[in-house]
Amino acid sequence: MRIFKKISVLLMVFTVLLNISTFGQTLNVGEISAEPGERTDGFIIVPEGSDGEEVKIPLTVINGANKGPVLALTAAIHGYEYPPVIAFQRLITMIDPKQVSGALIFVHVANIPSFLKRTIYYGPHDWKNLNRVFPGKEDGTMSERIAFQITKEVIDQCDYLIDNHCGDGNEDLMPYLYCPQIGDANIDKVTKMMAENYGLPLAINEKGRPTDIKESVYAGNTAIVRGKPAITIESGKLGRTDEIDIKRVVTGTLNIMKVLNMIKGEPEIKAKPVWVQKYTIIRSEKTGIFYPLVSRADHVQKGQLIGYLTDFFGKRIQEARAPYDGIVLYIVATPPMSPGEPMASIGQF
Ligand SMILES: [Zn+2]
Repeated sequence: MRIFKKISVLLMVFTVLLNISTFGQTLNVGEISAEPGERTDGFIIVPEGSDGEEVKIPLTVINGANKGPVLALTAAIHGYEYPPVIAFQRLITMIDPKQVSGALIFVHVANIPSFLKRTIYYGPHDWKNLNRVFPGKEDGTMSERIAFQITKEVIDQCDYLIDNHCGDGNEDLMPYLYCPQIGDANIDKVTKMMAENYGLPLAINEKGRPTDIKESVYAGNTAIVRGKPAITIESGKLGRTDEIDIKRVVTGTLNIMKVLNMIKGEPEIKAKPVWVQKYTIIRSEKTGIFYPLVSRADHVQKGQLIGYLTDFFGKRIQEARAPYDGIVLYIVATPPMSPGEPMASIGQF
C-alpha cells in the first residue's frame, strides 16, 4: 500500500517537475555560492534606500550531492514569529548535503529589521507588512526592498516554497497551513500533496488569492503565480519558542523533502489534515483594550461571543462574535487593539 502511495505521489510530482530544472550545479544565492555536496552560510544584501541603511538577510544553502529540485524555506517574514527560526537552526545541522538530491535555500530571518526591533506585523522602517508587499520593489521602502530581493534571489531560483509563520507576538494560534488552489490542475495537485504530507492537523483550502504576477502580495502566492507549488505553515504562538511548535516545523520540512524525493524515507504523519473550506478574520473597528473569551482550537457556535473591546475607561465598544459554527484558528491574546487589526480568525469545516 505504502509503495503504491509513494509511486502515485512521485508521479504527481513528476508531472510538475517536467518543466522545472533538476539541480546538480553551483547554486548562487545573494552573496553566497554552494557547490554540489556542500553547505554554505551567508547573506542576501538589501541595499540602502530613502528610509534606511543596507540590511543583511541571513541564509543557508544546502546544495545536495545529487540532482533534484530546489526547495526554498522562509522564516520570520513576520519578525516576531520564532519557532521556524529555531527549527531552521536545527535543520541545517541535521541535513547532510551528501545525502540530498536537489538543493535547499533556508532564509533564516527574512524580516531582519522587524526581528531585531521586535515588532509584530510591520517593519520598523516603513510600518508595512512584508507579507503584503510582494513581489516588492527594487527602489521601494525597506519592506518592499526586502520582498524584491527575496523574490529575485530565492523564489525565482526555487521549484517549491514553504513559507513558515506562526501566531505573531499577540496571537494565540493553533497549528495549521494554507494550501492555495489557483485552478491550474498540475500545480494545485502538488500543492495539495505538500499540504497533506507536511503533518499539520488542519489545512485551509485557500481560493481567490491574487493572480497578477506584479501584485502577488504574499510570499507563498509569489511562488504560486510563478508556477511553483507553495504552502504557508503556521506553527507557534505569542512570541514563544515552545518545543512542540519547533519540532512540528523540523518534522514537516523533512516530510516534504521525503515526498519530493530529496531524501530517503516515508513522511511521519499521524493523520491527514482536516480541511477548512472557509475562514473569516474578525477585525477591530476601533482603538482600545481587547478581552479574548476563547482560546486557539476552541470549537465555537454561530453568534457566540468570542471577545470584546473596551475603551480605555472600561466601556464595551465592540463585540466579536463567531460568524458560523467553526474553530478558532487564532485569537489575539494581548490587550492592545487598533482599527483594522485582526481580533480572531474563525475557520469553517
Ligand atoms: Zn506571519
